[in-house]
Amino acid sequence: MTEYAEADEAQILPVVAVVGRPNVGKSTLVNRIIGRREAVVQDVPGVTRDRVSYDAVWNGRQFVVVDTGGWASDAKGLAAQIAEQAELAIASADAVLFVVDATVGTLDEDEAVVEVLRRSRKPVVLAANKVDDQRTEMEAASMWNLGLGEPYAVSALHGRGSGDLLDALLAVLPQAPREGEPVERGPRRVAIVGKPNVGKSSLLNKLARQQRVVVDNAAGTTVDPVDELVEVDGEVYRFIDTAGIRRRVKEASGHEYYASLRTHGAIERAELCIVVVDASEPLTEQDLRILSSVEEAGRALLIAFNKWDLTDEERRRYLEREMERDLVQFGWAGHVNISATTGRHVDRLGPAIREALDSWETRISTGKLNAFLGRIVASHPHPVRGGKQPRILFGTQAQAGPPTFVLFTSGQVEDGYLRFVERRLREEFGFKGTPVHVQVRARE
Ligand code: GDP
Ligand code: GDP
Repeated sequence: MTEYAEADEAQILPVVAVVGRPNVGKSTLVNRIIGRREAVVQDVPGVTRDRVSYDAVWNGRQFVVVDTGGWASDAKGLAAQIAEQAELAIASADAVLFVVDATVGTLDEDEAVVEVLRRSRKPVVLAANKVDDQRTEMEAASMWNLGLGEPYAVSALHGRGSGDLLDALLAVLPQAPREGEPVERGPRRVAIVGKPNVGKSSLLNKLARQQRVVVDNAAGTTVDPVDELVEVDGEVYRFIDTAGIRRRVKEASGHEYYASLRTHGAIERAELCIVVVDASEPLTEQDLRILSSVEEAGRALLIAFNKWDLTDEERRRYLEREMERDLVQFGWAGHVNISATTGRHVDRLGPAIREALDSWETRISTGKLNAFLGRIVASHPHPVRGGKQPRILFGTQAQAGPPTFVLFTSGQVEDGYLRFVERRLREEFGFKGTPVHVQVRARE
């Protein structure tokens, strides 16, 4: 059975950053694009929204939208803040959707963003929002003066013009793959993420220093200046958003928000994330949040316990307890105990990266999968509920990167049983280093 075999090669979704000053309608527009009412719309600027990236599909092409809507307000000038925020968002995006309010016209804050956009080499699509009717069209046309090309007149609120806007956006997106379209694959994309000061830049430096010079001159491949090609253990990887790690962006306030925005962007663009944790300090909520983001995004995961040279016997014993208590959820992920300073075990990263990416891309044939499911159903049938017995009829792997299985069932299968199936899947097929998704289609 090769039903799904053609929908091959895990595809990297391009990222669109939505930028603009407060209240121009960024969130409303994001809602319009993703077709849901999930992003919270605020009349009051200054509120940080915690979820920042969303999956979107237009004309059968998939991409990720990052809403840069919220920030912490402080004493610094608004224009400077917005410019800074835009700069960060732009760095981790493939294209920018710049939103202005046509009913208000351009303000200093808008100009500040334009400045940043001009300096970046990212493609920009200009949305002149709040054009709810014909009368406001004139105002939208005046946005030509921003020098960013054609302003697309839209009403995020009513949907007016959003189709043309999305067409324009897809036209400038570098690699938005068609659903099911095979994509030529470049180097695997790896993101080094983690909270501040855990040793991300030290690790990157260590890895980069050990590499041979890598020249990327294959026709048609362009290297984003924020990414770097680094050879690890004989294999070339594209390390995502290294400019952000190297540049050591300092934001006095709103730091957490900017950092999380950047982290989200990097995770979305990566196939594998190395989450760096400071092994010499207790695990924190922030470490766990970043690990969860990687799992939720469905990326391969490798945990690097760094600063191992600073740990003593006692700390290591305590870390083991922390892992049992807080990291069981990520028990499927590989981990290495390293020191970016001394170089200890940094050579173990390469094999671990390869293993996790292999798992991430694994495809189980439908025949093999169903033989396995048949054995499970026979040896561990679902418990009878209310006189009925839910049953897995058959299954198929719908996707790789990460492995995603769809089980067709009679009746509603309980979550506990699904977790059991997932556990057995891992025992049977490995999947070290990758999340595994199991979905159910129930037939009554
Ligand atoms: P953000 O701060 O840029 O994310 O802006 P929001 O999406 O939170 O929108 C700010 C305000 O503008 C809200 O009250 C929205 O309802 C309103 N708004 C957004 N888009 C439109 C539009 O196309 N037309 C009109 N009339 N109002 C809009
Ligand atoms: P980043 O903010 O995550 O990029 O962290 P840095 O790479 O800037 O490291 C923060 C601090 O930790 C610096 O002073 C590093 O020298 C130090 N550091 C990083 N890795 C190690 C390590 O493995 N051992 C020790 N002892 N110090 C480290």
